[in-house]
Amino acid sequence: MPRRHPSRTAVSTPLLLLNIGQLLTLRWPSGNSGPRRGAELRELGIIEGAAVLCVGGKITSVGRTKDALRDPWIKKHRKQIRELDCANKVVIPGFVDSHTHPAFMSPRLTDFEKRIAGANYEEIAEAGGGIRASIEGVRRAGKRELAERVLSALNEIAAPGTTTVEAKSGYGLSLESELKSLQAIRAASAQWPGTVVPTLLGAHVVPSEFQSNPQQYVSLICEEMIPQAARRKLAKFVDVFCDKGAFSEEDSLRILNAARKNGLQVRAHISQLTRTSLERILKLNPLSLDHLDYVDEADIRLLAKSETIATFVPGANYFLGLREYPPARKLIDAGVGVALATDYNPGSSPTASMPFVLSLACTHMKMTPAEAITAATINGAWALGLEKSKGSIEPGKDSDLAIFGVKDYRELAYWVASNRCESVIAGGLVVVPR
Ligand SMILES: [Zn+2]
Repeated sequence: MPRRHPSRTAVSTPLLLLNIGQLLTLRWPSGNSGPRRGAELRELGIIEGAAVLCVGGKITSVGRTKDALRDPWIKKHRKQIRELDCANKVVIPGFVDSHTHPAFMSPRLTDFEKRIAGANYEEIAEAGGGIRASIEGVRRAGKRELAERVLSALNEIAAPGTTTVEAKSGYGLSLESELKSLQAIRAASAQWPGTVVPTLLGAHVVPSEFQSNPQQYVSLICEEMIPQAARRKLAKFVDVFCDKGAFSEEDSLRILNAARKNGLQVRAHISQLTRTSLERILKLNPLSLDHLDYVDEADIRLLAKSETIATFVPGANYFLGLREYPPARKLIDAGVGVALATDYNPGSSPTASMPFVLSLACTHMKMTPAEAITAATINGAWALGLEKSKGSIEPGKDSDLAIFGVKDYRELAYWVASNRCESVIAGGLVVVPR
């Protein structure tokens, strides 16, 4: 059974983290703003021997333990404060996983074996596997059953230190099943102490009943799915899979324009399998463009000039057994704001672990551990438009923190496939996932 989170009244207990070995605040040293770019990605704002006070679900003060213990408010209320000793531990802002697909029912084990035997992404899709293989389960599932699956995914995502998750629909691909998926995401997020940002991904792939007339499906997305999701406030974003075998650039622009017209923000899966020029899509000001395996120099220059975050999901490259990864070094060195996410999904990236993604970013994309952590926290928050409340440990932000049983922050990306996260605090609640 999925875990129900503790009563919200627990938020009222003030929480004091003391003696923190390394606190990674991710605050801006200069008071500047905007996503972190270039050398800024390596500025973690570390405080040693640190303390963090959280009251009412917000961070109220950040500093050294010796100063915290002299603070008159803390001295006066010490008995009512819950204290956590974080000696020899690393504390970071909870990871922001800005790209996940948790609304599915079953793993795709046949596709897994076919791929091992040598089939590629397109061959699996043509044989009825891939995204289409997940549709039947979601269409058949009740809303409650689907919500329980989403909640269990959210709990799994939280365990290694994630407190904010973007969650996409995209395995229903009918008006009814896409709205049901978004409702299931909403129901699951109400049971979960972290923060969930819902995204409509009706444009994941064209379902088989529309194969002979894909334009009719694009119209269904633009004229029914998007307006209904917007009117019922079921989604903040509309996403589209713009690639060979999914949606053309023209169709993607039509869908994203419909989203904007209905007051929703936009993001896209793009240049994963083949290159699409980013010029026209960037004019719609997407908060994030994701994958980007096939960007060229012109795309990189445009991204660097924009406010759009480039989100890498190397778990997909790993699981698909690809030799190539997105050219992260080139993008970072050109000044593009980059983020990292799991792309948690049953076909190409069945991992809930942000630390595993950090590891891949370091070993396969040559990002430094510091760059990977920044990409997975504050820049992930920018990719969701949550930079004012998430992604760094500063007074006024939400008290979303992850505590790791390691001495050095570089260990977060160093230990492969092992969870060193000991506690997660989301909205002021201590969640002990394990
Ligand atoms: Zn995805």
